[in-house]
Amino acid sequence: MELDTIAAISTPMGEGAIAIVRLSGDEAFDIGAKVFRGMKGTTMKEFATHTIHYGHIIDPDTDKVVEEVMVSVMRGPKTFTREDIIEINCHGGLVSVNKVLQLVLKHGARLAEPGEFTKRAFLNGRIDLSQAEAVMDLIRAKTDRAMNVALNQMEGRLSNLIRKLRQEILETLAHVEVNIDYPEYDDVEEMTHTVLLEKSRHVRDEIDKLIRTSEQGKILREGLSTVIIGRPNVGKSSLLNSLVHENKAIVTDIPGTTRDVIEEYVNVRGVPLRLVDTAGIRETEDIVERIGVERSRQVLKEADLILLVLNYADELTHEDEQLFEAVKGMDVIVIVNKTDLPKEIDLDRVRGLAKEHPLVTTALLEEEGIDELEEAISSLFFAGSIEAGDITYVSNSRHIALLNQASQAINEAINSVEMGTPIDIAQIDLTRTWELLGEIIGDSVNESLIDQLFSQFCLGK
Ligand code: GDP
Ligand code: ZN
Repeated sequence: MELDTIAAISTPMGEGAIAIVRLSGDEAFDIGAKVFRGMKGTTMKEFATHTIHYGHIIDPDTDKVVEEVMVSVMRGPKTFTREDIIEINCHGGLVSVNKVLQLVLKHGARLAEPGEFTKRAFLNGRIDLSQAEAVMDLIRAKTDRAMNVALNQMEGRLSNLIRKLRQEILETLAHVEVNIDYPEYDDVEEMTHTVLLEKSRHVRDEIDKLIRTSEQGKILREGLSTVIIGRPNVGKSSLLNSLVHENKAIVTDIPGTTRDVIEEYVNVRGVPLRLVDTAGIRETEDIVERIGVERSRQVLKEADLILLVLNYADELTHEDEQLFEAVKGMDVIVIVNKTDLPKEIDLDRVRGLAKEHPLVTTALLEEEGIDELEEAISSLFFAGSIEAGDITYVSNSRHIALLNQASQAINEAINSVEMGTPIDIAQIDLTRTWELLGEIIGDSVNESLIDQLFSQFCLGK
């Protein structure tokens, strides 16, 4: 494959001050040699692979220094794209990194399209499609934990599992072939039915298991939907603000603020939360009054976690009790706020209403109790069904859709065997299952799907 040399600003994750211009392709070293001057006049072509060098980027036309840099040189094929790569680490901010980029573009590189580096890794056989998508998730990952899911996937766990399942289907199909080729042996046919059912059911169970993990995967990616409820003036907005200020809000490209409610993304001790302040926007207005009973029920129903706020300096009201009623059976943390003021609330009654739910007291105005609240959030989350570690989560919506289709296809195969329909019907469904699973790892995709996928990547990846 003849590929030109591409370049882009490849900003590292996090908020590092360093920006990287990355080049990949046959001419990466030639272009680098033109613009980079190392110490004691060393040139890029002499550098050993996988080494880092200090020096300057020079505009060859004017001989002027553009930027002070560290350059990493990596010769293919032991690189991310399997091509020659150089990475120019600039630390002068966006303006100078842009200058460096313009310079390498002027001297022979082409500006990379979004996702083109990863696409090359895929095209050059370095990674499979599900790994490529994991890179994309990694770029978008909002918290450490979401990053771990993406990393696991990148290590090919999902791919390995899918491959095993496909292999099983292939072997089963091979059995069916035996039946078709040697119909004269009766027992072969019976055996085929048994094997077919047994294997298909096993594959289906494995697929369904993967589908079930997707809900958790989604939570890790999008955050636990957390709704703050409480009567007007108890401190809901103050709570939202405290959590946002204590925990750096996560910048997100998911459309956040809706018209009815305010949403913020925060990372509380590794737990990604999508906080929803139901009061939002205009203060002291009743959520039920403002957005309607139906809408507020909807917001509650979709929540993974409820933060129910009460006022320490006020007696419990009927409305408070109704709120407890409304969140029955959900994950709730009860927060009694304003403990800096004289107590009016009956804490024993609150404990009775809260039952097994954690109860935290806060004085948000004085930033008291926030640690305890964060502790409650993280222990609730980590004591629950979600465990970090060696579970393979499916969190990519395309994968989930394909797994659902595969599950359906293999169920049809199972049904037709059970109903005694001719075996070639099951064969078709099994083949379809095999193809659908293949699409997850990119073994049976067409070019346009690949293009579409990679165009979603951020630039420079
Ligand atoms: P919301 O209507 O539930 O969103 O309540 P707000 O967060 O807007 O708070 C209502 C009022 O209570 C504001 O004036 C806050 O400054 C105040 N407030 C919030 N938390 C505390 C607290 O812990 N102690 C005291 N004394 N006032 C608080
Ligand atoms: Zn408010």
